[in-house]
This record gives sequence, C-alpha cells and structure tokens, in this order.
Amino acid sequence: MTKILNRGGVDITFLGHSGFIFEKDGHKIAVDPFLTNAPMATRKAEDIIVDDILVTHGHADHIGDSISIAQKNDITITTTFEVARYCQSQGAKAFGVPVGVEQLFSWGKAIFRPAVHCGLLPDNTPFNIATGIIFDFGSIKIYHMGDTAINLDFKLVKEIYKPDMALIPIGGRVNMDIEQAALAAEWLGVKTVVPIHYDLFTQGPVNPQDFQKRLAEKNSGIECVIMEP
Ligand SMILES: [Zn+2]
Repeated sequence: MTKILNRGGVDITFLGHSGFIFEKDGHKIAVDPFLTNAPMATRKAEDIIVDDILVTHGHADHIGDSISIAQKNDITITTTFEVARYCQSQGAKAFGVPVGVEQLFSWGKAIFRPAVHCGLLPDNTPFNIATGIIFDFGSIKIYHMGDTAINLDFKLVKEIYKPDMALIPIGGRVNMDIEQAALAAEWLGVKTVVPIHYDLFTQGPVNPQDFQKRLAEKNSGIECVIMEP
C-alpha cells in the first residue's frame, strides 16, 4: 500500500479516515486531521507541523485534532462559517468562508463545494452546510469530497474545475457506497482516486480493494490508489 503518493508535484500523505497532509514547494496543508482515538491513525496530533488546516464540515471525525494542531502551530483553520465560529469558541484561530468561490492561499486556491450531508457540531449546534474542497495547486487539482451522498454537483465540478484526482468516501451509511462512489468518480472525470472513510461509520466492513475492483470492472481507466497511514 502507498504511504506517500506524489501527483503533480504534491506529496500526499494519508492520515487515516478522511485526513491528509499535502506538501507542495515547502507548504504543508492538513485537511480533516482526525488522529486522537481514530482507528487508522499512526501519528499523534502533537507531531503534526503544517502551515494551514482546512476542514470540510463540523463532525468530530473531520474537525478531529484541528484545534490543538492550529494552536500548537499558531495557524488558522479555514472552513465554513459555523465550523469556524465553533473552532474560535474552542480557542483556535479560524476563518469562515462561503461555499463555491475561490479562496487564495500562498500555495494555491481552495474552493469549497456543497456536499450533501448535514448534522451537528461537537457542541450540538447545527451547521448549515457540509462541503468538499477542491485544492488547486496549479500543477494539479485534488478534490477532497468530505462526507457526501452522490449528487449532480460532481458534474458541475467536472465542467468548471476539471479535477485530476478525487479523495472519495466509499463507506456507505453516511456517505456514498462503493457503487455510487465508482459512478461519482466517472462523473468527475478524474485520473486518480484514493478511497477514504471506510474505517468508521459504515454499515459493516468495507474493503477499499472492492472499490478498486469495481472501477476496473467498469473499464473506467481510473487509477485507484489505496493508501496506508
Ligand atoms: Zn465523516
């Protein structure tokens, strides 16, 4: 299994569940860094050194250790408004952004797209919208899909942004299952996918190899990389 994947000049490290670190030209960006009490995690939050944190939505398995990592590194969490307000209430620097427009960073751009998912923050207040995030590094566009049901926004994402790669939830129950994730990958027109969110909140055991197999059966031509934290 792949520990660090390099595509388009970006080193992609899987933290387990939905968490990743992207490294491009010396910039390190964490997304959904869930480590403490996470079944797949092999790293500790206190060892994570990054320049930015982006969070797709307000569930505990996605906010994860963002607050302590942001405090330790003295950096800002970028996320949607309610999640940013929650992170601020917990003592972290956070910036709330609207969905669907470009946010500029020193390393590139991020576009938060609507995901079909909803719920409550860890303090039981609701958040209005969950998102997936398109990371545009110039050399490659990586779409972290967050938690989502299948939906037609993926076709719009293909038309407008043409992502090269998708980090795609396959676990079912609170997300797309393998069949729907395979269809979503085709709709997105990506070259590469990495399956995520199959270790927790599934109906039963979910095997990422079955997703890889399904894409091969469909002759999709999509490379499926199963990563190991
Ligand atoms: Zn989740």
